[in-house]
Order: sequence, then structure tokens, then C-alpha cells
Amino acid sequence: MSTNEKHQFQAEIAQLLDIVIHSLYTDKEIFVRELISNAADASEKLKFLQTSGTEVVDPDAPLGIAIVTDEAAKTIAITDAGIGMTHGELIDNLGTIAHSGSRAFLEQIKANKGDASLIGQFGVGFYAAFMAADKVTVNTRSCKPGEEGWKWESDGKTGYEIEPAANLPRGTTILLHLKEEEFAKADRIREIIKRYSNFVPFPITLNGEAVNTVQAIWTRNKSDIKEEEYTEFYEYMGHDSEAPAYRLHFNADAPLSIRALLFVPSRSIEQLGMTRAESEVHLYCRKVLIESKAKGLFPEWLRFLRGVVDSEDLPLNISRETMQDSALMQKLNRVLTGRFLKFLDEEAKADPENYAKFFAEHGHCLKEGVAIDYEHRAALSKLLRFESSLTEKGKQTSLADYVSRMPDEQKEIYFILAANRESAEASPYFEVLKAKGFEALFLYDPRDEFVMDHLREFEGKPVQAAEKADLALDQEFTALSEEEAKGLAAFIKETLGERVHEVRASKRLVGSPAVAVESEKFMTSSMRRILKAMNREGGQSFEAKPDLELNPNHAMMASLEKMRHTDAALAAKVAEQIFDNARVAAGLLEDPREMLSRMNELLVQLLAK
Ligand code: ADP
Ligand code: MG
Repeated sequence: MSTNEKHQFQAEIAQLLDIVIHSLYTDKEIFVRELISNAADASEKLKFLQTSGTEVVDPDAPLGIAIVTDEAAKTIAITDAGIGMTHGELIDNLGTIAHSGSRAFLEQIKANKGDASLIGQFGVGFYAAFMAADKVTVNTRSCKPGEEGWKWESDGKTGYEIEPAANLPRGTTILLHLKEEEFAKADRIREIIKRYSNFVPFPITLNGEAVNTVQAIWTRNKSDIKEEEYTEFYEYMGHDSEAPAYRLHFNADAPLSIRALLFVPSRSIEQLGMTRAESEVHLYCRKVLIESKAKGLFPEWLRFLRGVVDSEDLPLNISRETMQDSALMQKLNRVLTGRFLKFLDEEAKADPENYAKFFAEHGHCLKEGVAIDYEHRAALSKLLRFESSLTEKGKQTSLADYVSRMPDEQKEIYFILAANRESAEASPYFEVLKAKGFEALFLYDPRDEFVMDHLREFEGKPVQAAEKADLALDQEFTALSEEEAKGLAAFIKETLGERVHEVRASKRLVGSPAVAVESEKFMTSSMRRILKAMNREGGQSFEAKPDLELNPNHAMMASLEKMRHTDAALAAKVAEQIFDNARVAAGLLEDPREMLSRMNELLVQLLAK
């Protein structure tokens, strides 16, 4: 054997290298990840040989990955004490296609115009070295006893040369003669290692200093992991010094191989201001980062999640652009989302107080899910919490508990949107529910009404705005006869004219003299108020034209009925005021100026008596 053998790259490798050198400009830094992965693989294999009792060279050499940068020489060297390569392995592994990956990678690269970051998944990661280097030197000695060391060298163009190298320790050093200084700078390399390779399970040093400190604990058994390790991991991954609200660590083998470690931060950054949270769940394949903040891994409404998902099932033919839409990603999304919602449900049952804290921070995201995600709506609806007429102030109930308290004759789940508990309890819409002993959910956020609107039902029970409840109290006409009530209603309708849709006697009022009720079927007063606010410029289309219901058992109505025969002008003024009061209660009165001047006139007339 001559001391300096020249070899040609296999045609496919030559073609691959041509593209790597001439067409890949983005993500050049991933060569560091690829070479570290290879070093870790080689170390892992050595560990396996040793534990299975195979004899290896330098059995006591510690397994670690040493990286040395030299700015003056414009080089970077990556050294491991792994299995190394024999002469034959050098040719097989670094000169021919041992894997079918390169053709697949070439096709992907052509289709995706130069996204190099996936090169490792095609089993051709080593060649990423040529993105950054114009010459690569590999010094390697196999762990097999009796093997010599070899030096492999190439400019990535004309082929490679192999010659013997004496006195090498077990393992491999890859030396890159860099095209640019960037990758000879220690700070830059440290940043790259932290980003992609922080969880590689062997100690990595950079110019002698330890770099990766945090372990990829998600691949370990839960029972072997100490609480402090989770804490340290979360602080690192979540950039959060406060303990998380929840942690879910789970493994699945079917339908997909998944190792996931997910955290819910104890605070929502969205509650603090206008910022929208961005999911910080990173996608790994065997502890190596594939995509940080992976898009499409979870639905948008779980954007508060942080952590990692590691799946060995990521196929070769996947690119970052298509990843989001790929069937695999959708499958991952479905499995992960379902698992996480199940977890929340269990936690909510096991520790309702802790769940209440979680819900106060992140509940708005779950509500968003109810409104927009049909697939998970049923699971999400179990996780909703609202204050109700039967909870204490500030405490909330689940819909399931609400349903369990429903009396037999109650067929629907009722809610009232109000500014706070006091106004919900004082709402005229609540009167009939209260009289019948039906519970009402109290909603304080206008968006909640949209959530209810999309929810439509829970466990087969329709969800209904109290305003729309088709309920009547069994009561007689006491203050007014049915006839009188009709006459009074006609008088008020005539007085109010087009501002009101219909005036009629009510069957649902106890203490209030009158109530304004939205007249359109699929609308409520509060919904109309919101639509109107959103459509300020848009003109009249959302102007309310409610029905007015009169309480035939209220003394005010009896007096008014009398007055309209004796002093029709004053009765009309009072009718106007009753209407405005009802609109105030329904949140429909926007400009109170007219009402105030009328009220003053009424006071003047009252005082003159
Ligand atoms: P992959 O890592 O997917 O197999 P690469 O192109 O990264 O593809 O590497 C090709 C092969 O070269 C590896 O499978 C391995 O056999 C060999 N190899 C690369 N780096 C090392 C190393 N540091 N030590 C031992 N073998 C290595
Ligand atoms: Mg590799």
C-alpha cells in the first residue's frame, strides 16, 4: 500500500458535495451539530461495545467531545474517543454512499432551494463540513485492537487522500480548515453548541471549558429523575426562574414514538400586556435539535407550552417548509394535544385549587380553542371554569359540576354576561332562573359569550343565554289584569315607536318593572353591544331594536296604567324612562344625556306636587 492513496468520491457524493459547496448558504452553522452528532454516535457505539464485553483499544480513555478553535490558524477541530474508523471504514463511510440518503437529500435540496439544516436526517451530515471548510482532515483510529491510525483528507472537490498516521489515540479528530473566520471564534461556536447540541449525552468541552451542562432528561425514566434536575432543565429551556404550573413527562411508542417533556409556565405573559405568547416546544430527533419552536407541533391555542418533543419517527423526506403540513406533523399534533388535554383534565380533578390558578392564567387560551377548534372542543369544554350563581364570589365551577346540580325540570345550561357578580345577580334576566332554582353561569369577559356561542352544548345540554331562556313563572296577573297589561303595552309601543320591536307582558320578572330583550333569534343584547362596538364606523346595522317586557305584577305598572288615562303626557315620559332603565340594565344605552334631562324634568314635576 502506498503511503498516499488518492481516491475519487463516488459520483453521487461528488454531486452532493458540489451542491453543498456551491448552493447552500443558509444554516451553515449546522455543520457543528452534524459533526458533534457523529462524535456522539461513535462514543455511544463504543460504550455499547464495552458494556457488551468487547475488547477495545484504550479502554480507560474517557468518552467526551473536545472542540478546539484556533482563530489565527482559522481552524476548528472536533475530537472524540469513540469507535474510530479503520481504513476500509473510512472509504465506506466517507467516500461512498453507505446510506441511500444522498439522493433523497439532493432531491429535497433542489425542491427547497438550499435549506441545509436537514442534511443530518438524510444520513449525509458529515459532508456539511464542506459548507464551512475548504479542506477537511480526519485523523482516526479504530477501537478494534491491532488497527492502525489513518489520516483522510479532502478539499471536497477532486476526491480524497488516505495515508497512515502513527501514534493516534482511539477515536477521531475532524479538523476543518475554514473558509471564513466566523467558525474559528469560540463565542460563536459556544452559541451554536448551546443551541443545537446542549443535550448531547457526552460532555462537550470548548477550548477546555465545559459547555453542555443540562442533560436530555426527557429520554430517561421518570423514576430516575430528581426534582432538581427537572427544575434545572425547566429554568434552562423555559427561560423562567419561577417553578412551572404543570409538568408532563411522557413516553409513547404507538402510534408514534414520542418522548415529551412539557411545561406550563405559572404565569401567562399574555396576561401582562399585549404580547402574544409563542410556543416554545422544540422538536428533537434522538436528542438533537431538528426545529426550535417547532410550528405545527401543537395548536395555536396551546401556545403557552414550553419544553421538548423527541420523536424518532421523523422521516427522511421532510423539509422545514413541508414539515408543518405533513401528515406526520398532524399526527404528532393530534397525539400530543389529546395527551396534554387528558393530563389537564386529570390534574383538574386531582387538585382543583392548583387548576384554578392555571386557569386564571391560561384559561383564555383554552377558551380560544373551544371557539376555533372543533376537533378538540369536547375535551376542552370539560376544562372550562366559570363563576356561577351557586359558587362563592371568585370561585368557579366546571360545566360537568353544573350539569350534576341541574334539577330534573331544567333542560338547558344558562349563562349571563355581566360586568361583575353584583350586576349578574341584579340582572333582570336572572330573576326567572333564581325563582325556579336554576343555576346561572356568570361570565365577566365579553369574549366568553362567543365561546358559549361556539360551544352550543355540553353533555347534550344546550348552552343558552339567560336572556334567551324560554322560561315562564307560573304567576297570575295581580297588579294588572291581562286586559290592562295589553292596553298598557300598546300605549308604550305607541310612545316608543320604532325604537322598540315589541312591547308585551313578561312571565319572567319578579322584582324588576321591565326588561329589554333582544328581538333577533340568534343574538343577545351583549353580543349586539360587542358587534356594534366593533363596527363603530360601519353605521346603523347593529343598532338594537329590542323587545320590552313589562312586569304585570309590579306596582309601577299598575300606577302607570292609571296615569295614562289621567295624564297621558307624563305617562309617556315615565314610559320613556322605563325603557331607558331597561336599556341601561341590558347595557344597550350608550348616550345617557337625553335620559338625564328627562329624569330632571320628572323630578321637577314630582317636587311640584
Ligand atoms: P450518519 O451520521 O447519518 O450515518 P454522516 O454523513 O454524518 O451520516 O456520517 C457517515 C458515517 O461516517 C457515519 O455513519 C459513521 O460510520 C462515520 N463517521 C462519521 N463521523 C465519525 C466519527 N467521529 N467517528 C466514527 N465514525 C464516524
Ligand atoms: Mg451524522
